Amino acid sequence: MLIFRQPLPGIERPQMEADVVIVGGGPAGMACALRLSQLIDAHNASHSDAQLSKENIYVLEKAREIGQHCLSGALLDPRSMRELLPGFEKEAPIEAEVSREAVYFLTRGSQFKLPVTPPPLRDHGNYVISLNRFVKWLGGKVEETGITVFTGFAGSELLVEGERVIGVRTDDKGVDKQNQPKSNFEPGYDLKSKVVVLAEGTRGSLTKQLIGRFQLDRDRNPQTYGQGVKELWEVPAGRIVPGQVIYTMGWPLTSKEYGGAWVYGGKDNIVSLGFVTGLDYPDPRLDPQRVLQEFKRHPLIRKLLEGGKMIRYGAKSLPYGGWWAVPPVSGNGWMILGDSAGFLNSQRLKGIHLAIKSGMLAAETAFDCLLKNDFSAPALSSYQQRVENSWIKTELWKVRNFHQGFEHGFWHGMVHAGLQQFTGGRGLHARYAASSGHARMKKLAQLPPDGGDEAHLLDNAKGDGKLTFDKLTDLYHSGTKHEEDQPAHLVIHDTQICNVRCVQEYGNPCQHFCPANVYEMVEAADVSSGKRISLNPSNCVHCKTCDIMDPYQIITWVPPEGGGGPNYDGM
Ligand code: SF4
Repeated sequence: MLIFRQPLPGIERPQMEADVVIVGGGPAGMACALRLSQLIDAHNASHSDAQLSKENIYVLEKAREIGQHCLSGALLDPRSMRELLPGFEKEAPIEAEVSREAVYFLTRGSQFKLPVTPPPLRDHGNYVISLNRFVKWLGGKVEETGITVFTGFAGSELLVEGERVIGVRTDDKGVDKQNQPKSNFEPGYDLKSKVVVLAEGTRGSLTKQLIGRFQLDRDRNPQTYGQGVKELWEVPAGRIVPGQVIYTMGWPLTSKEYGGAWVYGGKDNIVSLGFVTGLDYPDPRLDPQRVLQEFKRHPLIRKLLEGGKMIRYGAKSLPYGGWWAVPPVSGNGWMILGDSAGFLNSQRLKGIHLAIKSGMLAAETAFDCLLKNDFSAPALSSYQQRVENSWIKTELWKVRNFHQGFEHGFWHGMVHAGLQQFTGGRGLHARYAASSGHARMKKLAQLPPDGGDEAHLLDNAKGDGKLTFDKLTDLYHSGTKHEEDQPAHLVIHDTQICNVRCVQEYGNPCQHFCPANVYEMVEAADVSSGKRISLNPSNCVHCKTCDIMDPYQIITWVPPEGGGGPNYDGM
């Protein structure tokens, strides 16, 4: 029987007082901590009589080491980093400055290069980075300031009193598969904080609790997502130059799916390549990891990779919904940053610069609150105003209707995108509506049994072991590790739905959309369908796709014991 992770009842938990707790040590959380420290230092330098302390500012990071769970393409628009640390280029780990870019439309066997790179995809002046290395470096800067970064600690629960968020509970450690304390059991802390800053990345688990509890998605478009699957390759010399960027549209996707690929050249013949598939595809059998494998078989990409070696693998989800899907970002005791808020420009495929900027604006707000010792909802609401008066809104406003334009397929989307380009992002309507991606999945009975035009995207990839790989081979290259003896952190609220209804209606899409082979349907003579769901939670790369894309919305991703997860070293 599957036992899921849930809070242990009747446990005495140590309490700690904090001024600011930042949940998530990615680019947004680290930028927030660093900016807050800069502001405190500047204040203390000129106010010897009224010093502010950094002692009670904490960053919680669920990975064992800073940066281990950070994955992205990644191309950095340096705008916000130049505001945070002018001249950062001199010391930051940068792979290359973008030197040339090209956009291709792919068909099954050939390609068409766009004569002019569309303005949103022009990347001159941006940097190819490893987000993992970049965040490691940024986290080192935060640690130098004296702010404490607790690695291996996940925020498992928001502490709420009435209408106010009053802190965060960290994960219990040493809980066995049966959800019982082991001999090394350590209860989580109750960190009581004047403000909780949520910087958990896409579909943050505490952010989801907050949005649900206070209905923050009221009047918003539903958030929509993509899943990016990435491989890092070492290729023979001369195939690509550092700073070369290629974007592709079209094949292997058909006009019914949304998505595209990137290829970035780094130092030492390292190539970062990946495919983002919109998590709003119609066929439940589609497998985004297979989409990447099919993409690599295209002659343009095969030529680049042949004779090379895949060295790393990872996957993450990203928020595509744009400005209309951003919830209120501050309230009574809380602020939301970066991908957790949905600050991502899906037209440019970039969010790191927005995450950093949002972290800086949240820090400025927290600093004002510290000065006045006023963390009330009105005081924290200045973060909302800061975001709305900043270039975050200016940039996202121009693409506010972009992703929704593709809801009726690729060609419709291109027409809408063109119209929006000439109308400052408006297009045909002031606000384009959106529907949740999982709601657009069709039942098997509505689809051709052989998959029709999508047949090449369905079911798990087999892989030839050289150019293409099955999921387990890819997963091996993600460095994923978890404590094995712990309850499943993928909480399925009704496994009967998986075992009976989903088998017939959707054919258990979790087996396909999970990029890490966590979900399997195994034979079960005692179930009417003959199948039962089985989980391999220790494979999980924390992409959150199951929480997003399950058609019945019965899966909740909760953090596993802190320290577990992928190790995206160099990704
Ligand atoms: Fe992603 Fe869910 Fe699979 Fe984990 S179990 S890798 S969160 S889809």
